[in-house]
Amino acid sequence: MTGHLLIDGRLVPGRGGQIDVIDPARGEVHVSLVTSDHAQVLEATAAAARAWAGWQGLAQPERSRHLHAVAEGIEAVRDRLAEALTLETGRPLTRNHMYVDMARDLFHQYAELARVLGGRLAPSNDPGQLSLVLRAPYGVVACLIPWNYPLLLMVFKVAPALAVGNTVVIKPASETPLSLQVLAEVFAEHLPPGVANTVMGSGREVGEALVVDPGVDLVAFTGSTDVGKRLAGLCAEAVKPSHLELGGKDPAIVHDDVDPAIAAQGVVWAAFLNAGQVCTSTERVYVQRASYDSFVEHAVKLAAAIRLGDPFDVSTQVGPMRSEDRREGVVAMVDDAVSQGAEVVAGGHPVDGPGFFMEPTVLTGVDHTMRLMRDETFGPVLPIMAFDDDEEALRLAADTPYGLGASVYTSSPARVEEAYRRLRVGTVWVNDPVVDNLAAPFGGVRASGDARELGVEALDSFTTARHVHWNLELVPKPWWFREE
Ligand code: NAP
Ligand code: MG
Repeated sequence: MTGHLLIDGRLVPGRGGQIDVIDPARGEVHVSLVTSDHAQVLEATAAAARAWAGWQGLAQPERSRHLHAVAEGIEAVRDRLAEALTLETGRPLTRNHMYVDMARDLFHQYAELARVLGGRLAPSNDPGQLSLVLRAPYGVVACLIPWNYPLLLMVFKVAPALAVGNTVVIKPASETPLSLQVLAEVFAEHLPPGVANTVMGSGREVGEALVVDPGVDLVAFTGSTDVGKRLAGLCAEAVKPSHLELGGKDPAIVHDDVDPAIAAQGVVWAAFLNAGQVCTSTERVYVQRASYDSFVEHAVKLAAAIRLGDPFDVSTQVGPMRSEDRREGVVAMVDDAVSQGAEVVAGGHPVDGPGFFMEPTVLTGVDHTMRLMRDETFGPVLPIMAFDDDEEALRLAADTPYGLGASVYTSSPARVEEAYRRLRVGTVWVNDPVVDNLAAPFGGVRASGDARELGVEALDSFTTARHVHWNLELVPKPWWFREE
């Protein structure tokens, strides 16, 4: 298999170098694909720019029909998409069907929301005038996607962007280009040529070529804070808007007014789902002193009972990490914490054998001088700290440059209110961590970026306000220059 790109409505082979897609469950090359060369990046953005005039000029019901057709096309290849996701991410197949269904639902959702999207009529300066405030698409949107949720995080951008009349060029992460191979076939069948295009290749070459291409009007990026900073700089240089969905270091606070055994289940789920490779994973937990011992005991039992294994096996709960170097990075962070006095109370090691499996790891005796409590771990690691009063819990939770999400476990409305008022994050989950609600906005603040996806807010993200000042008739104004 050499793979294909979608450029100007046609599935074409790449002309660049080769990327090996490694199956993380086996640690072996699954398939090699050929990337885009530089000229193909320019062809893709040029095709998107040409297609834009027609696409944004379509009547909205017509554009929405195309999006519904894409949703139905996703449904038709549901199993192929779920299998591609399982191979490329190592995440259990049992979860991937759900992500495919969410992707389908998002195309339906934005097809309908865009149908009722309006502007407004602002009060005009004088009678005989209209001030139309329009919500206009940007033009060509470059979508840069990370490897942890290759399909879903791509559709978070592509569905609303297309629905409001933008065209797109999509670059998947080099490690996870497989689900987009399948989706590109769906786009080719159900969208006019050039409306959606794909390129492939390294972030440094193909990604940056896209970002700096003058044909790209908006950069929509999900990925690490370090790359986000670099792209923000490149966009500033070009005076080009960017949406950045970046890393996180999400805290969880467990108060003593809830059952620690149940809270431990929620926290352990949020820490080890997808081997901890979720931007909104619980990366650190603060437990009120009275519940601490019981919480730790339950967390250890739960972590030890997680079934790691072949992602295609229906009994598997957690698959491998995505790559060997990331697993090494996580082990190094755990070892560093241990060298500073932390104690591993569950797991702590890579799993022997093929693939990049890592034991679900729980640590106690941690504090904020350790890298493990400050830097994004992005792996199956749960460090637990005790706190005495609410003030201390909120201070510890807020002690981070990141601001993606936070979870609170409590039965007290006053504690919830104080938490969402004081914690500067994009999402607060109360007693139910890391769930997505496609109807509500998602994104971060501070070092986690500034974009908003999902909800009706995504329609704002992919449109810009424009004003038409309209004097209904041409009549001279008293302040215009006169001939005499
Ligand atoms: P990454 O290394 O920043 O890469 C993200 C994407 O950008 C990939 O397609 C990558 O391509 C590309 N890229 C890399 N360097 C680039 C450059 N200089 N110019 C243009 N594009 C470039 O992130 P990742 O390791 O894939 O993903 C993990 C990170 O994403 C974590 O920090 C996680 O928290 C964050 N994340 C955030 C959210 C959110 O919604 N806030 C969601 C999920 C993940 P290559 O693959 O070819 O390098
Ligand atoms: Mg990367």
